[in-house]
Amino acid sequence: MTNAARDVVVIGGGIVGCMTAYLLAKSGATVTILEADSVGSHASGFAFGEMGSLEGAGIPDPLLGFSVWSHQRHVSLSAELQEVSGVDPFFHLGARIKLALQPEEAADFKKNLEWQKDIADFKARWLGPEDIVKAEPQANPDCLGGVYSENAGSVEPYRYTLAAAQAAEKLGVDMVLRRARGLVKDGDRCLGVRIDGGQIDAGAVVLAMGPWTGQASEWCGAPLPVTPLKGQILRLQHASHEVKSSIYYKGSYVSSKPDGLIWAGTTEEEVGFDEETTGEARDKIMHDLLAMAPALADAELVQQTACLRPLSADGMPIVGQVPGWENLYVGTGAGRKGILWSSGMTQGLADIILGAESEVPGLGALHPQRFQ
Ligand SMILES: Cc1cc2nc3c(=O)[nH]c(=O)nc-3n(C[C@H](O)[C@H](O)[C@H](O)COP(=O)(O)OP(=O)(O)OC[C@H]3O[C@@H](n4cnc5c(N)ncnc54)[C@H](O)[C@@H]3O)c2cc1C
Repeated sequence: MTNAARDVVVIGGGIVGCMTAYLLAKSGATVTILEADSVGSHASGFAFGEMGSLEGAGIPDPLLGFSVWSHQRHVSLSAELQEVSGVDPFFHLGARIKLALQPEEAADFKKNLEWQKDIADFKARWLGPEDIVKAEPQANPDCLGGVYSENAGSVEPYRYTLAAAQAAEKLGVDMVLRRARGLVKDGDRCLGVRIDGGQIDAGAVVLAMGPWTGQASEWCGAPLPVTPLKGQILRLQHASHEVKSSIYYKGSYVSSKPDGLIWAGTTEEEVGFDEETTGEARDKIMHDLLAMAPALADAELVQQTACLRPLSADGMPIVGQVPGWENLYVGTGAGRKGILWSSGMTQGLADIILGAESEVPGLGALHPQRFQ
């Protein structure tokens, strides 16, 4: 840390930027968040908000420990952020069902269960079709069964991001709604961040710009391979049905949410920085929804959202000191898992910036150096 006006400027007011700022401020650092639009106005505000810790890029090897640690950390972190901010992020532990509709899916899931069942937190187990429907009456009764897990976390992602932002502000963090245009540099040191008409001085800078972080490669000359992966979600209303657990099938999902609506998704679209909703996505999501929960065929569409996941070149988060820079750091690239992994990414990042030993497992696999 230096004696500059601010110890750290965090670029990006998504979940990664806001949590990093909160954790740094909690350790006594003076921090400014620089956000081009508004807090949680992109993926962090429009994600599904579920925490599937036992699957995804890098799982089980090398990220299982990191993923489970991140999940456990949300239990205490969500309560802490709620207490400090007064914003309830609706953190909840509930059931998660991964449906199998084809014999090869059932075989694949059972194979993964051989190691998943050992992660005590989730009590993952195979259930046949009757038990699946008993556990979740909306699940497709024609399924071949599925993996049922308990204690899977979920949040309302916008409120969680807002809770982190407001908790950070309570600890003195400044929120500046301006776009970062580049870095102020002196050799391998960052002196601050350029904005239109001026600059913000800082002892260290964090790049937490979600899918836009790749653009900062030009600012710092280091490879930060992150691209946008668009995803859409439908929010639906049904007069009599709710989906108490989260049901998953082939990368899509459905669950009832704290706003009283049923949320269903999703898509994976490589279309650049386009955040518009589309009719094709709506039809695809409805098709997937009916495969998971056919009784919801007459649900009424209330809202459709689209946002951009920050996807790294290998699908795993990028967390650490930017190669070649003394005081420039990055936290991004978590793709479909950025809400779940936010706690591990941001605690790891805060520890690295503060020079503290980190208890977050697996951070070595996330270092940006791997893309050099
Ligand atoms: C449809 C969908 C569903 C999802 N569901 C889940 C889920 O169920 N579980 C899960 O774990 N994850 C989920 N995700 C992924 C998760 O939402 C993201 O990985 C996570 O929100 C990324 O957070 P972030 O802070 O890195 O980026 P963002 O939320 O994109 O925030 C980055 C911020 O940086 C700002 N910014 C960019 N450039 C600049 C600049 N030059 N100056 C200032 N500010 C700048 C942007 O305005 C933005 O606010 C989902 C994503 C999508 C799209």
